[in-house]
Amino acid sequence: MITVAAEKAKDQILKIGTRMSSAGLVVGTWGNISQRVRKENLMVITPSGIPYSCLRIADIVVVDIEGQVLEGERRPSSEYMMHLEIYKKRSDVDAIVHTHSIYASSLAVAREPIPPILEDMAQLVGSGVPVAGYARAGTMEMALKAAEGISHSNAVLLANHGVVGVGRSLDEALMVCQIVEKAAQIYILSKLAGSPHVLPDVEVKELRKSFLEDYGQKGCPAPPKNGR
Ligand code: 13P
Ligand code: ZN
Repeated sequence: MITVAAEKAKDQILKIGTRMSSAGLVVGTWGNISQRVRKENLMVITPSGIPYSCLRIADIVVVDIEGQVLEGERRPSSEYMMHLEIYKKRSDVDAIVHTHSIYASSLAVAREPIPPILEDMAQLVGSGVPVAGYARAGTMEMALKAAEGISHSNAVLLANHGVVGVGRSLDEALMVCQIVEKAAQIYILSKLAGSPHVLPDVEVKELRKSFLEDYGQKGCPAPPKNGR
């Protein structure tokens, strides 16, 4: 065991993997999940190409900030560089979830960003969800494009690929991916129904602020208050 914190992260990653998969945000072995362990400067991440239904604690991999495996028999996710680049770019982020969910991926194929159209989206994701330009999965080029895309939002669409959501916790990063998927679905439907109205910038900022400062209640699995 490397550290207690890394061991705890493995357990949480396993749980989030089951939730992500049963929510239908991924199919088979695709998608990946990581947690930063700040104190030790480590990243705990899912292995590459193992179905979530088969994942065991021993399959989860611990790497250093260069991506060198420190613990685990398995190869880390082929997207480990993307996860590391995002942690480098976003010092406020401690968890990353990558999904291939259907509606968000449809917009990623159309290369259509999602504007801020819903209050939960504005609260959790911030402004809209940009599209990072195409690069092949698992490459440093894609890692850099994803990290750039996520520098001003808590989510990014990867062209012709999927979604990345970030948060202060794994619960929050998964919730971001779920909210993005819901927003993508509603955005597509609202375009069919008429012309979507986008929330003004100042309203988005207020909603985000109120989420960070006031939302949730003590003792409930609510978002962490103002920091970690
Ligand atoms: P891994 O199984 O290597 O994590 O890859 C899945 C994926 O989604 C690639 O983008
Ligand atoms: Zn992927």
